[in-house]
Amino acid sequence: MKYNSPRGTRDLLPKESSIFRSTIKSILNTFKLFNYQELTTPIFESTGLFERAVGATTDIVEKEMYTFKDKGDRSITLRPEGTASIVRAYLQSLSSFQKQHVAKLAYVGPMFRYERPQTGRYRQFYQIGVEAIGSNSPLVDVETMVMGVAALNKLGVEKAEIAINSVGCDVCRPVIREQLKEFVGSIKKNLCDDCQNRFDQNPLRILDCKNPKCQTYFMGMPSMANALCKECNDHFICVLDQLDENDIPYTVDSNLVRGLDYYTKTVFEIRSSLLGAQNAICGGGRYDNLIEELGGRSTPAFGFAIGIDRLVMVLDQLNILPDDELDIEVICIGIGTEAQNKSFQIMQKLRAAGIKGEYYFKNKSIGDGIKQGLLLGAKFAIILGEEEIDNKLILLKDLGSKEQTHYKSIQEVVKAIKQ
Ligand code: AMP
Repeated sequence: MKYNSPRGTRDLLPKESSIFRSTIKSILNTFKLFNYQELTTPIFESTGLFERAVGATTDIVEKEMYTFKDKGDRSITLRPEGTASIVRAYLQSLSSFQKQHVAKLAYVGPMFRYERPQTGRYRQFYQIGVEAIGSNSPLVDVETMVMGVAALNKLGVEKAEIAINSVGCDVCRPVIREQLKEFVGSIKKNLCDDCQNRFDQNPLRILDCKNPKCQTYFMGMPSMANALCKECNDHFICVLDQLDENDIPYTVDSNLVRGLDYYTKTVFEIRSSLLGAQNAICGGGRYDNLIEELGGRSTPAFGFAIGIDRLVMVLDQLNILPDDELDIEVICIGIGTEAQNKSFQIMQKLRAAGIKGEYYFKNKSIGDGIKQGLLLGAKFAIILGEEEIDNKLILLKDLGSKEQTHYKSIQEVVKAIKQ
């Protein structure tokens, strides 16, 4: 019986794993400049947390969660997103965070959604995200978006575009909803079954529909901005002004609602034209009600998540390799039992001196050892044959220039390689 990875999941082979790791490292370094600290939460949570946070009538909760009963009959869900867990952890360890005027938390790890797999859409995917908890200032929205753009720029992704909208608050959301229902009422019969259901349950979710036919009917939809209350409108204008002042390009997309119910006021996506249908690399926004919704005091917050799988696809298309970690510097080859043991010890000493290398485990031939070294990207080979053992010497071969030199001590070899 042959097993493959489950549908919608994939193995990240060493090269890709390494690129993922370097990408995450680079992004976390940018986050640190903005004073974010990493918080690690469990991969699964009580199902109720996501139902409450993400919204019972969202696609994620209705169709996409990996939910199961554990052996203690508790309903458990593999996390479909990071914000709910971070807010749960924030509230659970409130005393650690509440003295900070804004608690700035970052997270990274796999997320799980039972979606229809396609390019850039997986059932297990990776996100790196942030949450800024504790301030309703529009400058927090701007700072967080500036940081998202800075993280992408640092990796070399320059042409990423912010699409932005405001989905209002408890005061103006009912007005937005009514405006939307009035517009959709006339075209409702042409929309898909999901949209028909959403019309009564959660009309804003209609805009989230991925069905291209439905999308065509949404053209001409009245702009949400017209229905915003004064507070939301002022907030939105301030955010847009400050994006301008900070030279961050954006476009207002008045149909942008995002797939999670907790958003209030600002929502945004960063998109790349280098991706196909799944063109969002990053998504997020403000969620001023969620913390209260999950049992805390009313606390405003803002966050986003970058999809690492999609970002790496963009880096690949741009030929940007944030990874230079794979290649080794040296391969250590010994032919004959004594030479093998000796070269094995030399390899350990080189690693202790900070030199990355591989030991040639076969005893076939020097030529085969060099071939292995070249395959792994080695710049040098250390070769011990009969002559070297008899004369207590170490042969260092430069695999580029083919030059080779005998040395008497490991220290001399380390010096030569480092030079
Ligand atoms: P969301 O949590 O839905 O706001 O998504 C934030 C980001 O995560 C998106 O912009 C994508 O880059 C990424 N993402 C979301 N769902 C998937 C998925 N199924 N496969 C790959 N990436 C995803």
